[in-house]
Amino acid sequence: TVVLAAEGLGKTYAEGKLHTPVFDGLDFAVRAGETVAILGASGAGKSTLLHLLGGLDTPTAGEVFVSGQKMSALSNAARGTLRNRSLGFVYQFHHLLPEFTALENVMLPALLNGASDADATRRSRDLLETVGLGHRLAHKPGELSGGERQRAAVARALVNGPACVLGDEPTGNLDERTAATVFELMLELNRAQHTSLVLVTHDRRLARKLDRVMELHEGKLREVAKEDV
Ligand code: ADP
Ligand code: ADP
Repeated sequence: TVVLAAEGLGKTYAEGKLHTPVFDGLDFAVRAGETVAILGASGAGKSTLLHLLGGLDTPTAGEVFVSGQKMSALSNAARGTLRNRSLGFVYQFHHLLPEFTALENVMLPALLNGASDADATRRSRDLLETVGLGHRLAHKPGELSGGERQRAAVARALVNGPACVLGDEPTGNLDERTAATVFELMLELNRAQHTSLVLVTHDRRLARKLDRVMELHEGKLREVAKEDV
């Protein structure tokens, strides 16, 4: 099954350079449990692609399908619900809420998705234990290390059991060793929970660990053979 797909996807920013498309006519599909790396130079359009796939921005051409549903055919509310249930997001910066504990930060998307307090607490505690933060439940982001904050962000992305996690340089702000650990953690969760991963990275060594590597270059998304990564 395809969990996330794009057909003929294009984006032109209204205020962009001479209204040139960042890309146009991209086709892309991620199957259940599959892991995909997206490489590309700065400015190639990786964040734009991820924002469109995640429904955080609207394409100027083509369609995005999340769990088989055409995003453009849904109301804003239905799109928000589908996004919250089917997708998880991890960014370069953790975006945890500073006033809340690690546990509360992870619980939030579950509560927004209608989970009971007890259920959200149980799932969040389990996930934080899985990512190695069982002893940090009551800590606020300011009391966590950079690696711990990214682990908490990974737990938050998974709390609603998404079909796919989208990561925009999820380890880009970490030192090399911590980055490798957080990356490995995401792969373990992929194997254990069958959650697909689409990760933008410019670390080719990390990209090579995923099932497929794609490169965005001059508006085209092409598959790169593993031995050429
Ligand atoms: P990457 O993530 O690969 O670095 P981006 O998707 O951030 O690339 O950007 C692709 C291109 O689109 C760049 O030329 C960037 O300046 C432009 N761009 C990105 N966001 C906007 C925006 N909101 N408005 C106008 N141009 C944008
Ligand atoms: P990242 O790649 O970490 O997602 P960027 O630095 O590319 O972040 O962009 C940060 C924000 O600024 C995004 O919301 C993006 O849409 C916006 N942005 C990026 N480039 C431009 C641009 N040339 N004009 C206007 N907004 C932009």
